[in-house]
Amino acid sequence: MRLSRYFIPTYKEVPADAEVVSHQLMLRAGLIRKLTSGIYTYLPAGLRAIRKVEQIIREEMNRAGAIEVLMPAVQPAELWRESGRWDYYGRELLRFKDRHNREACLGPTHEEVITDLVRREIHSYKQMPVNFYQIQTKFRDEIRPRFGVMRGREFIMKDAYSFDVDEDGAERSYKAMYEAYERIFQRCGLRFRAVEADTGTIGGSYSHEYMVLAETGEDEIVSCSACDYAANLEKAEIGDREAPASTDNAAEIFPLEEVETPDVKSVEEVTAFLSIPPETLVKTLIYRTDKEIVAALVRGDHELNEVKLKNALGAQTVELADSRLVEETTGAPMGFAGPMGLKVRILADRAVRGMRNFVTGGNRKDLHLKNVNLGRDFDVERFEDLRVVAPGDVCPRCGGPIRFGRGIEVGHIFKLGTKYSEALRALFLDRNGKEKPIVMGCYGIGVGRTVAAAIEQNHDEKGIIFPIPIAPFEATILPLQMNDARVMEAAETLYGGLMERGVDVLIDDRDERAGVKFNDADLTGIPLRVTVGRKGIEKGIVEIKLRRDTQSVEVPLQGAVDAVLERIKALYDSPA
Ligand code: ATP
Ligand code: MG
Repeated sequence: MRLSRYFIPTYKEVPADAEVVSHQLMLRAGLIRKLTSGIYTYLPAGLRAIRKVEQIIREEMNRAGAIEVLMPAVQPAELWRESGRWDYYGRELLRFKDRHNREACLGPTHEEVITDLVRREIHSYKQMPVNFYQIQTKFRDEIRPRFGVMRGREFIMKDAYSFDVDEDGAERSYKAMYEAYERIFQRCGLRFRAVEADTGTIGGSYSHEYMVLAETGEDEIVSCSACDYAANLEKAEIGDREAPASTDNAAEIFPLEEVETPDVKSVEEVTAFLSIPPETLVKTLIYRTDKEIVAALVRGDHELNEVKLKNALGAQTVELADSRLVEETTGAPMGFAGPMGLKVRILADRAVRGMRNFVTGGNRKDLHLKNVNLGRDFDVERFEDLRVVAPGDVCPRCGGPIRFGRGIEVGHIFKLGTKYSEALRALFLDRNGKEKPIVMGCYGIGVGRTVAAAIEQNHDEKGIIFPIPIAPFEATILPLQMNDARVMEAAETLYGGLMERGVDVLIDDRDERAGVKFNDADLTGIPLRVTVGRKGIEKGIVEIKLRRDTQSVEVPLQGAVDAVLERIKALYDSPA
């Protein structure tokens, strides 16, 4: 491609409304332009990066045996009513009516549509396993679209759906996708972790999220430094090596004591007032679920994990009680809740089990209790893992040290079970002629988000440093003196030679100063640059520089094509 006749509109200024560096760089490097909130045009170079990611995805999905289809963006409301999601999905679903007053939506995902196809076409165990995928535009009316194409309202997703005759088959399909995803993100040149993720209330199933490691990521993740355990913070388990409680089991049990604590409410206030460490206190949190009111107990220095609480209760929703509900439930204003005498179910975090003589609220204004003890003073229904992991906790699998970090979710694989096949009656006849619901899985990758995440992870102060497999171009040639016939001839020969060898090469044949060309080459992040200048040509050399290196090397003009090819190959061999 000749830059003089191509279109990469770059600029220097940092765009005011772009918070994260990938968004800034995608705008500055001329990859995307905003149409309106959360909706973007991919400019030619941005589209090239997108197409490269798509190609890698296609190759790996095909290799894993998945079959490509293309489903519509417009989906009828009836299907969503059948699955129950028309009401459930909320305002992210963009709904509208057609001229016949029929309700429809723009698909945020395609479980309904693919299940409808499958229920019409697949009736026998002989037609499975099968996995259909597409690369298609989704619409989600996100509350807070931000970070450019990272969280857009309209975005490109690869989504795949597997159909199996039983749980074992579904497990194999899931595993095949797990492996395909590993290959996809490796091939894209990303540093990532597959983390165990929460699946909410779709019982019995599980899921992994693929997280590109980046400090600006929206998701907090925990990973083991010793084994390959990694999880979302909301999912990360506390092993049964639970940190020992501050007082041991054999400790003497003291008589209960009431202490007046006027206006002393928070853990900080109570511990300061009583001069005790927070781990000798038990917090009592009142929650409203979709079914009931419950109390959850955690140690004073621990934080309750609402996702774990929700799962432990088998609830659809959990919501921290407001002051009115706290007062109704405990008889005291907020800040004085305790487990003694409560009339609701009480669940406690496992760390509470070993505690003795602890402090709780007294369920009366301005009252706390000292030397509270399990069994003697109150009982809990169950001990569960209810808290957020904290520094100092260890890996639940191997006991190794854990690290906290942030990530960008680029992919998500999910076992669906029979949720959709039952709702939409996608049934099949098994080997014995018995009718059964198909067992499903679904698997997504955000294509635009993958490009943005790659930039978030690979850049410096000058611009993008694209991993070569997803770079818009593999190499760029910069002739420095456009009016020097020998420079231009060398540059053109090299350009022709590289194109002939199948390299995605861009020649900066604009009549611009050298400085402009260098800056643009750095900004747009093309992994390999060949500089052709008058002085070099006089010596019979050109300069090759990798975007990720600081040093350039001189190579003879004669062997320049091979020298470039060799380096491109090396970049593909270790893209990350
Ligand atoms: P998130 O938690 O980030 O909203 P999600 O759980 O809603 O993601 P999925 O429904 O699993 O996402 O979608 C599959 C993939 O699509 C995600 O892993 C992500 O890469 C991508 N994706 C989801 N929402 C967006 C969005 N608003 N803009 C761009 N990509 C998105
Ligand atoms: Mg979402």
